[in-house]
Amino acid sequence: MERNWAGSHVFGAAEVRRPTSVDELGGIVAGHDRVRALGTRHAFTDLADTTGVLVETSGLGGDVEIDADRRVVRVPGGLRYGDLAGHLARHGWALATMASLPHISVAGAVATGTHGSGDRTGSLAAAVAGLELIGPDGGLRRIERGDADFDGHVVSLGALGVVTEVTLDVEPTYDVRQDLFTDLPWAVAAEHLDELTASAYSVSLFTDWVSGTVQQVWLKSRGTEPPVDLWGSGPATTTLHMLAGAGIEAVTEQGGVPGPWHQRLPHFRMEFTPSRGEELQSEYLVPRDRVHEAIDRLRGLAPSFAPLLQVSEVRTIAADDLWLSGAQGHDVVGLHFTWIRDVPGVYAVLPAIEDALLPLGGRPHWGKCFAAGADALRPLYPRFDDFRALVRRVDPGRKFTNSFLGRTLDLG
Ligand SMILES: Cc1cc2nc3c(=O)[nH]c(=O)nc-3n(C[C@H](O)[C@H](O)[C@H](O)COP(=O)(O)OP(=O)(O)OC[C@H]3O[C@@H](n4cnc5c(N)ncnc54)[C@H](O)[C@@H]3O)c2cc1C
Repeated sequence: MERNWAGSHVFGAAEVRRPTSVDELGGIVAGHDRVRALGTRHAFTDLADTTGVLVETSGLGGDVEIDADRRVVRVPGGLRYGDLAGHLARHGWALATMASLPHISVAGAVATGTHGSGDRTGSLAAAVAGLELIGPDGGLRRIERGDADFDGHVVSLGALGVVTEVTLDVEPTYDVRQDLFTDLPWAVAAEHLDELTASAYSVSLFTDWVSGTVQQVWLKSRGTEPPVDLWGSGPATTTLHMLAGAGIEAVTEQGGVPGPWHQRLPHFRMEFTPSRGEELQSEYLVPRDRVHEAIDRLRGLAPSFAPLLQVSEVRTIAADDLWLSGAQGHDVVGLHFTWIRDVPGVYAVLPAIEDALLPLGGRPHWGKCFAAGADALRPLYPRFDDFRALVRRVDPGRKFTNSFLGRTLDLG
C-alpha cells in the first residue's frame, strides 16, 4: 500500500509510475483519463491522490543550471530542496528561504505554497520565475513570470499539469547563525510581536498555547547580531528540539555558530527524519493586522485542543501575488499546529479553530489538515474563481482534478 509521509493517507490510485524521461511522462499523461503528480508525499491528506495514475517526477533526472546573469536556477521539479541547496551553496549561490525541512520536492512544495519564516521573505513559491509542465494532452509548455496567468500557475495544487522543471530566483550565498531563547511570557511576546519577528532574518516562536509562555524562540540571523536577551528571556544554553523529548541530532546547528544558509534556515538536517514522523499538521495564514485577535482566540480555545497538540509554531511570510497563496495580497503570520497522529481527533477540533481564524482572513495551508470546503474558502481568496476558470481552460476534461479539489475548490 502506498502511503504519504505521515502514514495518515493511503493512496487510492490504481497505479504509481516513475517515468525516466519527459517523453515517457508525456505518454503516460496523454494515455490516461485521471493523472496526478506526486512529489515527496509530505502533504498530510488526499491532496495528491487520484483514482487513476500517480506520477512521480523524481526519476526524470535533469541538470541544475545556474544562470548567474539572470540570478536564477533551473531545477528538475522532482528534486528535493536539500539536494538543490547543497548544489547552490557549492557554487556560491543561495535561496532566500527554506521550509522547516529540506526533504521536500521543489515542485510539490511550490504547488502548495510552502514557506519558511521572515518578515521580508516570501514563500518558496514566491521565488518561482518560470515553470515547465506537461499538460493534459501530454505536451510540454513553459510559462514565465510576467506571462498572462503566471500568478495562477505557481500554487497550482497539481491541477494544471505535471511540473517537470522550475526556475527559481537565487542570490549570492550567505551565512546565518541560529540562536534560541526560552520561556518568553505570552503577554510580553504579544506586546512586542512586531519587534520580535523583526529581530532576525527568520523568526519562529514555539508554544503550547496553554502554559502562558512561548517556550522557544528561534532566531536565524543574517548579517546582524541577535539580541542579547528578549525582554528578560535569555539565550538557550543547550541544543533544543522544539518537541520535548525528541532527538536533538535531527536539528540544525544552534548556539550562534555561523554557517551556510542551507544548514541553518531549515530546522531539520537532511540526513535525519524531521520531527517525530507520527504526526499531523495544520496551519492557518492570518493577515498580519489580525494576528493579535487570532492569538487571543487560540489561547482561549487551547484547553480544547491541547491533548492533541505536540507543539505550535508561529512564523511570518511576506505578501505575494500568487492567486492561491496563503500570503496573496498581504503579509501574513502562519499559525501552525503539529498534532499527534489522531486523524478523527484532529478533524474534530479543526472546525472550532477555523470558526476562530477564517473570519479573520486565515487561509488554511493547502498541504496540511483542514476542514473547510469551497464555500468557506472562496471569500478568502480574491482570485479563487479565476483559478477555477484557469483550470477549466487548461484542463477541460479535468484530468488533473481529484476529490480534494472537488471539496475545496468546487472542481468536480
Ligand atoms: C515534517 C514536515 C514538515 C513540514 N514543514 C513545512 C514548513 O516548514 N512549511 C510549510 O509551508 N510546509 C511544511 N510542510 C508541508 C509540506 O511542505 C507540503 O505538504 C509540501 O507540499 C510537500 O511537498 P511534497 O513534494 O512532499 O508534495 P506532495 O505531498 O507529494 O504533493 C503535494 C501537492 O503537490 C503536487 N505536486 C507534487 N509534485 C508536483 C509536480 N511535479 N507537478 C505538479 N504538482 C505537483 C501534488 O499533486 C499535490 O497536489 C511540512 C510537512 C512535513 C511532513
